[in-house]
Amino acid sequence: MVKAEELVLPSVAALAPYEPGKPVEEVERELGIKNAVKLASNENPVGPSPLAVKALSEALSGLNRYPDGGGYYLRQRLATHHAIGVDEIFLGDGSCEILNLLAQLFLRPGLNAVVSEHSFVIYRLAVAATGAGIKTVPLNGLTLDLEAIGGAIDEHTRIVFLGNPNNPTGTIYRRAAWEKFLRRVPAATVIAADEAYFEFVRDADYPDSMRYHDGERILVTLRTFSKIFGLAGLRAGYAVARKDVVAMLNHVRQPFNVSSLAQAAVLAAMDDREHVRKTLEVNAAGVAYLEREFRRLGVGFAPTQANFVLAEVGDGRTVFDQLLRSGVIVRPMDSYGLPRHVRISVGLEEENRRLIEALEAALKRR
Ligand SMILES: *Cc1c(COP(=O)(O)O)cnc(C)c1O
Repeated sequence: MVKAEELVLPSVAALAPYEPGKPVEEVERELGIKNAVKLASNENPVGPSPLAVKALSEALSGLNRYPDGGGYYLRQRLATHHAIGVDEIFLGDGSCEILNLLAQLFLRPGLNAVVSEHSFVIYRLAVAATGAGIKTVPLNGLTLDLEAIGGAIDEHTRIVFLGNPNNPTGTIYRRAAWEKFLRRVPAATVIAADEAYFEFVRDADYPDSMRYHDGERILVTLRTFSKIFGLAGLRAGYAVARKDVVAMLNHVRQPFNVSSLAQAAVLAAMDDREHVRKTLEVNAAGVAYLEREFRRLGVGFAPTQANFVLAEVGDGRTVFDQLLRSGVIVRPMDSYGLPRHVRISVGLEEENRRLIEALEAALKRR
C-alpha cells in the first residue's frame, strides 16, 4: 500500500495540524460540569453584534441562492469605509483563507517566506503547503524584530508575514521600526500585514498599515470580522492591496468563498457602533484586571495591545490541564514554541475572575 504521506510534499507530511481550542460542550461533558469558560481562541466574549444576528435571520430565507460571488455591497461598504477603490478590496472566508491564497499565489519550491518565531501558526501551514522554504526570525524580547526580519529577506523571499499585534504575544511593533523596515523591503517581496486585532490597539505609536499603501510596494493589509465584530463562526475577512494583487487573488479563489450569511451579517455589524464600543470597554477593563492580578500572583506577561494575554506560568501544559479541570479553557503554547506560557483570551468580568481563581489554585499546587 502506498501511504498518503509518500505522495505529498515533504513539507506537508512533516506538519503538525492546527490544534483548535476544545469546544466548551466537550469539556463540560468530559468533566461533568455545566459552566465551563472558554478563553482559548480570542473570541469576542460579548457575543456577536445584535444587528448582525438580525440581518442573519433575515438572510436565511435566501439560502437557496448562491452568494453574491463578487461581494458587491460589502466591498462597496469597505471601499467607502477606507476611502479606497472597490478593486483594491478582496474578501475571504476568514482572513486565514487570504493568508493561504497569498502563499499559493506567490510561493513555490525554490522561493521562501520570512516569518517571526512565536507568531500565528497559520503562516507556517500556508507556506509549507506550497513547498517553499521558510526562514524563521527570533523575537526581540517578546516583540517582532523588524530589523532582523528585514535582514533575513533575500532575493528568493516573496512574502513576509507580520502580525501586528502579534498572536500569541499580543505585542506590536511601532511606527519608526515599521517605516525603516518598509524602506528596505525589495519591490518583489509581498508584505502581509495581518491586523486581526487592529481595533483593540490603544498605543498611539501603532502604525496602521492601511496608511502605507503607496501604489508601489506590494503591501497587503489583512483584517477580520472574527475578533472585534464577534463573528468568528461565520468566517469573513478581507484584504486591502494594489488592484493587480487583488486581481491575481481573484484568479485563485473559489467563486463563492464568502457565504451569503457572512456577507449580510458583516454589513450589519459594520454599522453596529454600540457593539464595538461595548466590546472595547469590556476588553480594556479585562486587560487591566488580568494584568493587575498577574502582578499580584507573580506571573510574567507580555504587554498586550489585543484581546488576549500571553502569561508565563511555569509548565504551560500542566497549568493548562489544571485550569481545564477547573472548567477554564485557555491555550497551551508548546505548539508555538513557548512551553512555559499559556495564552488567555480576555473574557467577561466573571469569566476573568474564574480564570484568576483557577490559576491561583493551580500555581499554589506547583
Ligand atoms: C484570529 C486571527 C486571524 C483571523 O482569522 P480568521 O480566519 O479571519 O478568523 C488572523 N490572524 C491572526 C494572527 C489571528 O489571531
